[in-house]
Amino acid sequence: MNTNNHLKNLTSSLKNPQADDAEIISRAYEFAEAIHKDQKRLSGEPYFSHCVAVAELLASLNMDAKTIAAGLLHDTHEDGGVTLAEIEKQFGKEVAFLVDGVTKLGKYKYRGVVRHAESLRKLFLAVSKDMRVLVIRLADRLHNMKTLSHVRDDKQRRIALETLEIYAPIANRLGMGRIKGDLEDLAFPYVFPKEYAWVSALRKERSKNATKRLEKIHRDLQTLLHGESVEIITADYRIKHLYSLYRKLLRYDKDIEKIYDIAALRVIVPTETDCYRVLGVIHGMWQPLPGRIKDYIATPKPNGYQSLHTSIFTGDGGIVEIQIRTNKMHEEAEYGVAAHFSYKEGLRHSNGEGALGKKFHWIQELVKWQKQVSGPNEFLSNLQMDFFKDRVFVFTPKGDVIDLPEESLPLDFAYAVHSGIGDRLAGVKVNNKLVSLDTKLKNGDIVEIVTKKTSAPSAKWLSYAKTAIAKKHIKAALAKIKK
Ligand code: MN
Repeated sequence: MNTNNHLKNLTSSLKNPQADDAEIISRAYEFAEAIHKDQKRLSGEPYFSHCVAVAELLASLNMDAKTIAAGLLHDTHEDGGVTLAEIEKQFGKEVAFLVDGVTKLGKYKYRGVVRHAESLRKLFLAVSKDMRVLVIRLADRLHNMKTLSHVRDDKQRRIALETLEIYAPIANRLGMGRIKGDLEDLAFPYVFPKEYAWVSALRKERSKNATKRLEKIHRDLQTLLHGESVEIITADYRIKHLYSLYRKLLRYDKDIEKIYDIAALRVIVPTETDCYRVLGVIHGMWQPLPGRIKDYIATPKPNGYQSLHTSIFTGDGGIVEIQIRTNKMHEEAEYGVAAHFSYKEGLRHSNGEGALGKKFHWIQELVKWQKQVSGPNEFLSNLQMDFFKDRVFVFTPKGDVIDLPEESLPLDFAYAVHSGIGDRLAGVKVNNKLVSLDTKLKNGDIVEIVTKKTSAPSAKWLSYAKTAIAKKHIKAALAKIKK
């Protein structure tokens, strides 16, 4: 493709473009192209093709002009030897900050886990000031995963594993469902080749039948909704991502018969009220599977995901899943934090201000406590434990949602609410029943902490806490008691 076509791709999706938007993108394009002129990717392609691919991905996420420019320039410092001062002089402070944030640490200074942890620390510090850094880094990683086959064998697995353990969970926490799914499926065959082959074959065999059933349901549903004068904006069949199917299979004894959402019908309607009306119409026509109706509109997932899910008996021996949502919910489910930038909510910073800041408050928390942990190994294991493990969300008696890592215990909940509540804990009720401190919390549990002024932590509590934050508070309280 030629320069003009590239530039058209990079600027056509800008929302409310300013006069100098196209100009900064084309200057960044020319600058980066010249810098990488003599460099090649391992695939033999010109290095610059990577920069364009990253920038195009950012454009497809409706990111702003400076982010797209930074995407074009993201390797000019680390791999092209351009100083940050020069980037700032040419493109301004904001673009230079973004490029610096995306740049990994000096290549040969650190090795293995130390370098890895240090560069993650640096990444999170930058992200806490401006979340666009993370979106660029994810776009960079996604393109690197697409071209991973050209990388040396022993490096492939390491990079793919890092993608599964760090980058995909970050995308998930930012609600970027599409990028998360793509990253996982690209990494899957390198990390678990046998399992990948098994799940691919299984999905291929099963999704054919499921899709046929969904097509029939879709036709019938359209007729029904026409009578109710509900308009469907779009409907499509989403096939479950491979890695996510694999994870689900592991949770269900590897029994494919227990999984009903290999293919799902996704119905998009104009308003939230329409969502519930469609659900009503569906349940009036087909028998729903008990216990499988999920209202993520009233109770969104911790990463913000909203939708109605139901599984129905198709009447011919099959069971299929239907997902119902509005367009806005759909965009947020696919693009997460990036969807917010495009809505021009003016919320590019994650420094605790505005709706976006509140939603992604955990990044601030992460930066705060990563300063307190001692070594890089501890930082990494805590990071994986506290922030990227699958989450459970439980409620306070007042209905506030507390988002915790899987397998969290009552003390983790108490300290997540407030350290004062943790320190004074005298008993715990889950769903109105008194429980012991080793009770694992489950999604949707209502947790009430009974406090007493005379209560105080004991050394035993440390074995009843999973999160680093709870352990830290307990240790601090114990140290005070000793004095
Ligand atoms: Mn890159």
